[in-house]
Amino acid sequence: MDYRFASDNTAGLCAEAWEALHAADGGACPSYGEDPWTARAADAIREVVGRESEVFFVFNGTAANSLALAACCRSYHGVICSDVAHIVTDECGAPEFFSNGTKLLTARSERGKVLPAEVERLVTERSDLHYPKPRVLSLTLPTELGTVYSLDELRELAVVSRRHGLAVHVDGARFANAVVALGVPPAEILAAAGADVLCFGAVKNGLGFAEAVVFRNPEWSTEFSWRCKQAGQLASKMRYLAAPWVRGFEDDLWLRNAAHANRCAARLARRLAGVPGARLVQPVEANAVFVELTPEHHAKLAAAGWAYYDFIGGAARFVCSWATSDADIEALVGALL
Ligand SMILES: *Cc1c(COP(=O)(O)O)cnc(C)c1O
Repeated sequence: MDYRFASDNTAGLCAEAWEALHAADGGACPSYGEDPWTARAADAIREVVGRESEVFFVFNGTAANSLALAACCRSYHGVICSDVAHIVTDECGAPEFFSNGTKLLTARSERGKVLPAEVERLVTERSDLHYPKPRVLSLTLPTELGTVYSLDELRELAVVSRRHGLAVHVDGARFANAVVALGVPPAEILAAAGADVLCFGAVKNGLGFAEAVVFRNPEWSTEFSWRCKQAGQLASKMRYLAAPWVRGFEDDLWLRNAAHANRCAARLARRLAGVPGARLVQPVEANAVFVELTPEHHAKLAAAGWAYYDFIGGAARFVCSWATSDADIEALVGALL
């Protein structure tokens, strides 16, 4: 099978991440995050997200989202999220598990985006004690359908959240791709969303194998280290998780990797638009392309061994990464012609 477009997590680590791992190797240094790489990685994140932030590293996005949400909720609370949110469709109930029962309340979404009116509806339609109390609004940036909330859309959602006392969680498994798409500093994006906590991804961006949980509002981070440890998410050799992060913030590598992926997706979309019978079904704003294909197209891709998902968003999904090349794009398009 050919996995080049199946997801951005099918790509390997970029060369710089490998160099960073080697640089952190050798010799003894403190464990469990007390090492200099972890401190530098956290500082670098604070530099782009906000000086007051508290930063923690965990092994994957499911843990990041679940533990972040658990930190913001009590067991009888509810988390409002889109009906296509990764936390509801792809995390095996981990957010509910780690928060001891907090319920996910799904909002109808358009192009992957939560609508402010839906948040309003979910918060106000019930206030009795027989229904979970909405506590958090979770937004995915970019969304699971490859779209990116505009700053104005984020501000509108932030207003609704503030009005109802909801904390805001951002699932940023591909946050770098959204930052590139919006073209404004990360801190500005998070301020527009009124984000209290960001799950900041690096894995899909080719930069190692740790995700960061970043509390912009340190109020929520109390005792979070214990939560991580109990959940089996405290790496003893944390330096190896942190080192690629440090490298990612040197010479804007994290943004260059993401910009490359976004450019490739735009190119792939242009090429697919020229394939007879293929129809783009979502605007291509980050690094994913959703396209409706004919049964003949699917048969051709199957015969050529291309791996891709076709149940997300009801269309075929192709995801570009830091590693995608023009030749990859031509190979995929060529298989469809
Ligand atoms: C990939 C992804 C995650 C993280 O998934 P893990 O497999 O747990 O690392 C979280 N949210 C979104 C939107 C994702 O696409």
